[in-house]
Amino acid sequence: MKEAIGFIGLGIMGGGMAANLLKAGFDVVVWNRTPGRITPLAAAGAAVADSPAAVAAGCGIIITCVSDTPDVEEVILGPRGVIEGIRSGSLVIDCSTISPAVTRAIAGRLQAVGAHMLDAPVSGGSEGAARGTLSIMVGGEAEQVRRAMPALQAMGKTITHVGGHGAGQMAKLVNQILVVVTMQGVAEALLFAQAGELDLEKTLAAVGGGAAGSWMLNNRGPQVIRRDWRPGFTVDLQQKDLRLVLEAADEMGIPLPSTALVFQYYRALQQQGLGGEGNHALVKALERLAGMEVGM
Ligand code: NAP
Repeated sequence: MKEAIGFIGLGIMGGGMAANLLKAGFDVVVWNRTPGRITPLAAAGAAVADSPAAVAAGCGIIITCVSDTPDVEEVILGPRGVIEGIRSGSLVIDCSTISPAVTRAIAGRLQAVGAHMLDAPVSGGSEGAARGTLSIMVGGEAEQVRRAMPALQAMGKTITHVGGHGAGQMAKLVNQILVVVTMQGVAEALLFAQAGELDLEKTLAAVGGGAAGSWMLNNRGPQVIRRDWRPGFTVDLQQKDLRLVLEAADEMGIPLPSTALVFQYYRALQQQGLGGEGNHALVKALERLAGMEVGM
């Protein structure tokens, strides 16, 4: 029999993920801080709880998908949080992108009351959340990963158990280093091509299929050329993730010079009021250094 699933945090990601659990036939109990976001899920058949504690009291598996580290601490460990209602043996799956170190601490607090935790941050954007095609990077005990698998498969396509508590968050941060350093390369290359008066579309066609090709170049490059800054992933969320990367790198004592540089560029964009634009707006930071613009 399928376990009832609680879902806390019905934002851009959580809303689609909870809807896919309902579509897959799970009994779903939802809570969101702002009640308006609950309406479409309730209409699709979800039961509604009045606190994270009440969600936990009614469900064997509780999924959280909220913004940042303090938010996960609040909904799990805070007043009327999950820990106040959770039953012994229940499983919390945190799909937010947060600090690996705090993840391990929360897993310890849940373990102390007889409950389990997996970190399961996601990649694939709002489209992936809506379509159920997310990549999910999972940290925790293998037995709990097996238990979570039917729910994870309802929300994602590529599910990888990467290691113990916090390892899912670490893998997600690896993903973010690759995303931003690649985007930095795409931005510099397009600026160079523009300054050299190349046809940018032909240039993308020429290099996109070779060794220099990448998802970022092929998907965000054309958006940069069209100067279309609509977000798949915002500068603000990207900046939050880079802060997590740099904090974890600092704890481990390793240098990440390129990531640190991109972090500073994103900070400049935030100060210019561009935090809501897509992460490919990184090119605008270089444009201001170069005194020229890319694209038409
Ligand atoms: P979002 O649309 O801004 O939604 C955030 C959700 O968290 C909302 O339900 C919000 O509640 C809730 N929340 C935030 N702080 C809270 C608190 N202190 N107490 C209770 N609820 C709180 O964000 P999102 O895009 O869904 O992102 C959620 C997580 O997924 C983040 O960690 C993000 O980095 C990660 N992620 C996002 C994407 C993406 O493309 N968007 C991709 C991969 C991973 P309210 O409705 O009350 O504000």
